[in-house]
Amino acid sequence: MVIFLKNYSIWNDEVNFIKRDKLDKNINVDILVIGGGITGISCCFQLIGTNKKIALVDANSIGSGITSRTTGKLTFLQEGIYSKIKKYSNANNAKLYYEAQKDSIKIVKDIVTKEKINCNFEKSDSYLFCEDESKINNIKNEKKILENFGCEVKEVDSLPDKNKCGYGIKVDGTYCFHPLKYLVELEKVLLNRGVKIYENTRIYSINEFGNYYICKSDKYSIHTKEVVLALHYPYFTVPFFMPFKVHLEKSYVSAFLEKNNLNFNAINLDKPVKSVRFYKSDENKYKIFLYGSRNLAMDVNDKKHFDKFKEFNYDYKYLWSNIDIITGDFIPYIGEIMKGVYIATGYNTWGMTNSSIAAVVIRDLILKKENKYINLFNPKRGINILSLPLVFGSNAKSYIESTINSNKKFYESVRIEEINGKKIGIYNYGNKEYKVYIKCPHMGCNLVFNEVEKTWDCPCHGSRFNIYGKVINGPSNFDITYK
Ligand SMILES: Cc1cc2nc3c(=O)[nH]c(=O)nc-3n(C[C@H](O)[C@H](O)[C@H](O)COP(=O)(O)OP(=O)(O)OC[C@H]3O[C@@H](n4cnc5c(N)ncnc54)[C@H](O)[C@@H]3O)c2cc1C
Repeated sequence: MVIFLKNYSIWNDEVNFIKRDKLDKNINVDILVIGGGITGISCCFQLIGTNKKIALVDANSIGSGITSRTTGKLTFLQEGIYSKIKKYSNANNAKLYYEAQKDSIKIVKDIVTKEKINCNFEKSDSYLFCEDESKINNIKNEKKILENFGCEVKEVDSLPDKNKCGYGIKVDGTYCFHPLKYLVELEKVLLNRGVKIYENTRIYSINEFGNYYICKSDKYSIHTKEVVLALHYPYFTVPFFMPFKVHLEKSYVSAFLEKNNLNFNAINLDKPVKSVRFYKSDENKYKIFLYGSRNLAMDVNDKKHFDKFKEFNYDYKYLWSNIDIITGDFIPYIGEIMKGVYIATGYNTWGMTNSSIAAVVIRDLILKKENKYINLFNPKRGINILSLPLVFGSNAKSYIESTINSNKKFYESVRIEEINGKKIGIYNYGNKEYKVYIKCPHMGCNLVFNEVEKTWDCPCHGSRFNIYGKVINGPSNFDITYK
């Protein structure tokens, strides 16, 4: 079978979501979950059986956000995260975070077993390795921290595919799965148990009225007591100063055919980042290879980053990129941000794993039950002084870089013009011109064209738009269609 190179994630080809209706009347619920990625779907799942009337809405379709472009590992070996949390928060929180990851993996495992979910959920030992000697001590340090938590860690000098890896460590009790198959099946469970699901229903505003909220979409409103913002980037929480508390990172991912389906996953501590896992579809075996990651606002020419895959002689079948949110202390923000409003974000590229514990924490907050992770993830916690240069430095640099670089024209297929005082990006393809406004509606940053995925991307906060101007990823809540 011949497979041509596709400029979207492999997961999108492997699932059939059933289209759900748009909201077509005003409704009244106890809990509204906004966002149908892994966070929103997991939150709804944890809330069924609580006697609450629940609705979930997604601006596009279920699983169309960041979750569709992940690598789908469920692991607690997350680069050097425990050393980082120890440094930017404290040792107790590093241990608690470790326990949260172990719990989260167990939650997914139990759901898959109990609900008989067919999502290629497979045991996959995790490796952390380095090729550069200067990182050996960092890995040894991570090993020591994990061992102090009671985790069994083995030292290795090669990966199971026989590739020498310099120095590395290995843990077990970790898994890989197909993220969208997991969502499709969980969505069916939700519908069967009375959760109302609406697609193509974007929420534009959330207003508080005494002890309830009115969440408005384009025509209809949802009247609710509590709101869960499972949006990836929770832009409704203006006083939370999200843009000043986090920075974003973009990574580049590929999938190519592979003879063997090995059950391990690995990530390095060197630069550029290399991360691998294996996946066996009904027809083929693939290796999923993430290569390179960058601060979203720096070095914004995506083609240049995708071209780096050419350093390896693989026969790529899929290429895509994805964005995630990094917090100052490397701990996610999960919890109640205003009375009755909950967020789960800032997963530091480990949201497949963190989203399940996020769902349990939010459920327990709503039910006013104790949960040992509430303080760890508290979104109202202060910022450690050590992380200020990391967050502010990175944000300041990124605003400057994005202003300078986003005005550059990287590709022959694109030109930028000013029409009636507004900047217009014009993409030329097959004798047709696709015009869009290129100021991001979120905070006014200049958008940059991503020639590989054919999207207009915001280098400041990660909004993405297709060539027709339709927003495909927030935080922008508005399109950039040229009229
Ligand atoms: C390259 C890469 C690889 C990764 N690999 C891994 C991995 O192997 N393991 C791991 O643990 N984590 C991984 N992650 C992280 C993980 O994929 C994400 O953290 C996770 O998918 C985020 O899910 P989410 O549900 O919070 O967001 P999303 O999936 O983005 O869901 C948010 C949803 O909200 C909807 N929405 C937005 N605004 C509105 C609105 N106004 N009204 C209604 N709906 C709205 C969107 O349409 C979207 O569907 C990776 C991240 C990257 C960048």
